[in-house]
Amino acid sequence: MRASTYPLIDADEAAALVLHHIATLGVEHVALADSIGRVLAEDIVAGGPLPAFPSSAVDGYAVRAVDAGKALRILGESAAGRPFEGHVTPGTAARILTGGVVPEGADCVVMVEDVQLHGDLVTVPESLRSGANLHPVGTDVAKGARVLLAGMQLGAAEIGLAAATGAPRLPVHRRPRVALMSTGDELVEVGETPRKGQIPDSNRWALLGALREAGADVRVLGIAPDEPEPLRGLVVDALGDADALVTSGGVSVGTHDLVKPLLESLGTVHIGRVKLKPGKPFTFATLSEGKVAFGLPGFPVSSLVTFEVFVRPALRRMQGFANVQRPTLPVRLGYDARASGDRTEYQRVTRHSHHPHPTVPCGQGRPPP
Ligand code: AMP
Ligand code: MG
Repeated sequence: MRASTYPLIDADEAAALVLHHIATLGVEHVALADSIGRVLAEDIVAGGPLPAFPSSAVDGYAVRAVDAGKALRILGESAAGRPFEGHVTPGTAARILTGGVVPEGADCVVMVEDVQLHGDLVTVPESLRSGANLHPVGTDVAKGARVLLAGMQLGAAEIGLAAATGAPRLPVHRRPRVALMSTGDELVEVGETPRKGQIPDSNRWALLGALREAGADVRVLGIAPDEPEPLRGLVVDALGDADALVTSGGVSVGTHDLVKPLLESLGTVHIGRVKLKPGKPFTFATLSEGKVAFGLPGFPVSSLVTFEVFVRPALRRMQGFANVQRPTLPVRLGYDARASGDRTEYQRVTRHSHHPHPTVPCGQGRPPP
């Protein structure tokens, strides 16, 4: 064992330093079918108004409001997708169905429930309001409106809106390709029976889930032994087509902790120790060709906390997210939190919603000096 020579960096400073080294990845155009969860690279601007034509909100009759109370001659029908091409002139009406084009001349629609029919005559109520029961042109979206902004994540509603503007493909940032590796001679594949001293490689699955949730395209490298050469071989091979490497374990100061020296030999280690609890030995390095490496501590909680604090925001920056951080929520702690020196501490809590006056920020509680 030897004392670590890496300076202890403040947690906020370390998080900012990581982001400082992260570039947003390039743009690709994907089909709507493949766009869920992706991040828009450009604003989506409506090329025309929506709706593009005055459309009926109900089934009924398209009429002129000034013809209120009269028996009107029915000229024809305007169904969705099959417009009535004639004009509604004084004393006439057109049957119309929901989504149908309101014909020229008509300025309102009367619901079918509110009329009386006698052959080809329809009697409309005594009072009619111009504009009733129809959607005028551009009421949903004006021509030229920015309906979606660069940096937004595409969910179901966003994809629907983009599709409504007529865009079959959308410009999105490329997903980060991440190589994921666990290190440690004690690790065995999940499902194998561990012998004495062995444990299942649980971090791989936790981190795979966390990486996917953060939008990464993950290549799982499996378990690397605590031996420099095989470890190096695996990493160099994986870095070929990856944007980032994420490892767990092997970053503390034991003689079997080989990740820091390996990253030193491959690039520049910017962070080797952080004032963070848990997660002090977190390691971050930049490598050639803009690639980056995150060495997460092996202890499962530490690996997930450092993932949240450092890796997830970085992956979101790569994808062009406008907001790389999770929302935070002020809460009142229901227990006495003990300060731990000058380290930023993440505590595990269960949130209950019955406290009416929240006071303490959740998730990033910094103990008082
Ligand atoms: P290390 O950071 O390699 O010193 O590991 C710290 C602790 O985390 C040790 O108890 C390891 O056995 C445990 N650990 C390391 N890697 C994993 C893993 N992939 N899954 C579960 N536990 C792990
Ligand atoms: Mg280890």
